[in-house]
Amino acid sequence: MAASVLVATTAEVLAHPDLDEGTLAPWEQRRLARIRVPGRRDDVVAARLLLRLCAARVIGRSPQEVRPAQRCPGCGRDGHGRPYLPGHPGLGVSFSHADGLAAAAVVPGPVGIDVEPLERRPGPLTVMRRLLPEAEVDAAGAEPEPGPALLRLWVRREALFKAGRDDARLTVWTDHRRAAVVALAGGPAPRARAAPRS
Ligand SMILES: [Zn+2]
Repeated sequence: MAASVLVATTAEVLAHPDLDEGTLAPWEQRRLARIRVPGRRDDVVAARLLLRLCAARVIGRSPQEVRPAQRCPGCGRDGHGRPYLPGHPGLGVSFSHADGLAAAAVVPGPVGIDVEPLERRPGPLTVMRRLLPEAEVDAAGAEPEPGPALLRLWVRREALFKAGRDDARLTVWTDHRRAAVVALAGGPAPRARAAPRS
């Protein structure tokens, strides 16, 4: 079965000729209206549009025809929580945004994706130890330059959390052109991570 994993800058997504903020659903537009920081709003728009591009490639439709939904595993309501593609129960869907960056994945089976700026430094160690396997945090923290190793641990945790399973295949890579670190939990071994051009 086909799969699509894309990483892009927010600017790349917003400039993409096949993607248009106007195609977001009313419930997504309402959520966007609550975001006060313009840059952050753009990042959210970009991630949601990039998800449509991934899904369009996998199911063979145009991005405008793709209608992703979200349902919360906690309260069971629609409009937040885990994303999915109605009518495609076999496909896993995930998206992520960070400062000026977006990532999305549509693959067979459970999936989680996380993107963070390469320069981001999670921490402090005391907090990381509460959230991540302590031995891994301590090993990363013992390195001469612990920042990059801790960031990789962080994106891995986020991706696994979104995938909803700890045994998913993990791939972590650095997109140097976009100064991004990306983790993908689940899905096939990724190949090209080119810009989302059509
Ligand atoms: Zn909920």
